[in-house]
Amino acid sequence: MARASITPPRERKAAWRRFRPRGARRKMTLYRCTSCGKLAVTQPAFCGCGNRKWLPATVSGKGKIYSCTTLYAAAEPFEKDLPFQIAIIELEGGVRLTGRILGARVDIGDDVALVEERGGVHFFSAA
Ligand SMILES: [Zn+2]
Repeated sequence: MARASITPPRERKAAWRRFRPRGARRKMTLYRCTSCGKLAVTQPAFCGCGNRKWLPATVSGKGKIYSCTTLYAAAEPFEKDLPFQIAIIELEGGVRLTGRILGARVDIGDDVALVEERGGVHFFSAA
């Protein structure tokens, strides 16, 4: 099946150019369990190993699409952005988080990179 795009073809390449250079350099700060090394996006009260100590850990912000969907309806503050993709991204190190996709449409298994974090939302684009 041909991949449908939510971005008009002529704008797709421009969007890719606009987002990739920043996304490629953007790093993220996660939390790493001091006992077993497990990563977490937000600092949990305790780790599955029983440890309660976490230290900040900087990761590349690069990952792969684990799952994704396109939204055609959203709450009022986000209506102007419709349609847009949201995805579960598996970051290097195995931790998964939900983020928004900017620019070209992505699919499961595609490489993505963090573009920015705004209002508590992580924005990624194809890498
Ligand atoms: Zn642990």
